[in-house]
This record gives sequence, C-alpha cells and structure tokens, in this order.
Amino acid sequence: MPTQPVLTAAPATVTPDTAAPATAASVHSERVLTGDRPTGPLHLGHYFGTLHNRVRLQNQGTDLFLVIPDYQVLTDRDVAEHLVEHVEGLVLDYLGAGVDPARATVFTHSAVPALNQLLLPFLSLVSVAELGRNPTVKDEIAHSRQSAVSGLMYTYPAHQAADILFCKATLVPVGKDQEPHLELTRTIARRFNERYGPVFPEPRTLLSQAPLLLGTDGTKMSKSRANSIALKATSDETARLIRGAKTDQDRRISYDPAARPEVSNLVLLTALCQGRDPHEVAESIGDGGASALKAAATEAVNTHFAPLRARRAQYAQDMDYVRELLRAGNERANEVAEQTLAQVRAAMGMFR
Ligand code: ATP
Ligand code: MG
Repeated sequence: MPTQPVLTAAPATVTPDTAAPATAASVHSERVLTGDRPTGPLHLGHYFGTLHNRVRLQNQGTDLFLVIPDYQVLTDRDVAEHLVEHVEGLVLDYLGAGVDPARATVFTHSAVPALNQLLLPFLSLVSVAELGRNPTVKDEIAHSRQSAVSGLMYTYPAHQAADILFCKATLVPVGKDQEPHLELTRTIARRFNERYGPVFPEPRTLLSQAPLLLGTDGTKMSKSRANSIALKATSDETARLIRGAKTDQDRRISYDPAARPEVSNLVLLTALCQGRDPHEVAESIGDGGASALKAAATEAVNTHFAPLRARRAQYAQDMDYVRELLRAGNERANEVAEQTLAQVRAAMGMFR
C-alpha cells in the first residue's frame, strides 16, 4: 500500500494517493504539528488517521510538535474531567506508537501563554459568519453534551490556528474532520500576512488512507462517542467491541465504502493492519459473512497492535518520565511561542 506523503509539492491537502517520495532536503524543511484533545484514550481512528503519519514523518527526520489542547475539552462540555489522567494517557499512547521523546515536542496548550495570546489578533481576521458555517463545528454541536452552545465551540478553530501557527508548522497530519479547520488556519495566515507583512506559512493538510475511520456504531470513531476501540485495549476487549460492530445482511463481503460503509470499514481496518489491499481482503473472506470478517479484523488488530500495547505498558511503569517529557515540551513550546508572539506584535505595531 502507498505510504509516502507529498512533501515537495504544495497543494492545500495531500494524500498518499497523490504522493511522491520525500527527499531528505524536503523532509528537513518541514515542521509538523498536530494533536489530540485530552478527552480519553487514543483509538484506531487516530492511529490510521494521523498517528501513523506523524511517526513516519518523525522517523524521516521532520521536527514534530504534538499539542494536547486542554482548553479545547471545554468546547462541548461544562467541565474537563480527569484532565491529568487523560493528558498522561495520551503521552503513553504516543510513546507506545513510536513517538520519539528525543525528537518530538509534546506540550499542553494551556501552559503556553504566548500561544494563547495569538488568538486575539487571529479572531480579528475571521468573520462571525465564517466561524458559524464550519461543518465540523456543526457536527460537534449536534453531538455536544451541552444544552447551550458556548463561544468556545465557535471560536476553537481560530484557537487551533494559534496551536498550528505559533510554531510556523508547514504540514499538519489530521483526519478528515479537521479539513475545514485547516482551511481557516490558512485563511488566517494569509490575511495576517496581507495585513501586517509576512510572518506565517500557510500549512498543508496531510490526510491518510483512512481519513475517517468509523466506530462500532457506523459514525466517525470518536473518543467521546462510546464507539471507539482504544489502542491500549486488551485483545479480549478488542474482540468484544468488534463483535458488536454494526454491519449489514449481505453474506458476500465486498469493499465498497459508499454503498456498504460499515462492512468496508472493517475490511479497511483489516487491510491497514496487514498492509494489504482492501479489495483483496474482501475477496479472501468471500461468502464468510460478518462473523468471518469480524474474526479477521480482530485477529489483524490484535496482532498489529501487540508491540504498541507492550511498549505502552512499559512506559506506564515510569510516570515521572512521562511528566518530565511534558515539562520539557512545555518549556520548548513557550520559547517558540514567545518568539512568534514578539514577531506578531512587532508586525502589528504594538508598543514594546
Ligand atoms: P473527541 O470525541 O473528544 O473529539 P476524537 O476521537 O474526535 O475525540 P480528536 O482529539 O478530536 O479525537 O482528534 C485528534 C486527531 O485525530 C484529529 O486529527 C482528527 O482528525 C483525528 N481523528 C479523530 N477521529 C478520527 C477518525 N475516526 N478517523 C480518522 N482520523 C480521526
Ligand atoms: Mg474530535
């Protein structure tokens, strides 16, 4: 299966389908930033949607920043519960997946005041109408736990632009739901540069082969929707969750994401874990029906993630190390953010 992203051309969105091999020079000129809300453990959607790409880019030599946007937890709920536990759990998931603490900067955005200050000029660059028509925000409002929609829900995509632009990221590996946010980030960068002079790059979106993995209920797999399979799940939990996944009545297994989204999702999951073509996976299961498909998917997930789970469990023995990693990441993020904020304030003609 193709796995190389485009790192030389500059379309707004790059996918493995349009990929050309990266050259060492192009990889080193990229800065990658992406992240995950601390709302629960990372799941298979994260891994195949973005985490796998992050680790691959890191291993090719790119500078990797991972933001844990803790303020963003409050977009769809009143209180951020178990924050420390979720933040530390994310770091363990990263380490288990192969994020190299020596090469990556992992930080929580609430600990980086200069990053947060960028939100003020950025909000001046977007209209209320633009914030209101974001399709991902609309979907998240539909799934929100709150009866009233907060101002943070509408403005967090601009806050996310600050998460990305504070370190002048050029490439952002994310899932499909993030595309409107990345479009807004590019708009903010462009408008800032036009109004005040060149400060920010316009970062590109890097999608994977699974930009929207479905959960066990057939909607986007999400930490907050009780439909996900965690990377750290045990083999038995994985088997139970996949057994309960939505499928359809047709015994003949095929790969047709438009007509058969749930079945195709399990086929794709199996294919990604085994490095095979999804059509070939479907063909090999043939008339076995949903139970054979689920057995194959369970076996594939448990085999593929066994080393990740073992590595994660090993790191979990030393939580002081995890906390130290975050402290160092926050320190580096603060240095970078302060430099960028100084440039922004100078470009805007603020008193210094
Ligand atoms: P929550 O339900 O709390 O919003 P989430 O599962 O949607 O959690 P996020 O932290 O919002 O996870 O997203 C982190 C990153 O993972 C983003 O780049 C997002 O696009 C990607 N991602 C999340 N879910 C999926 C999925 N099902 N398929 C592909 N990528 C995904
Ligand atoms: Mg989300």
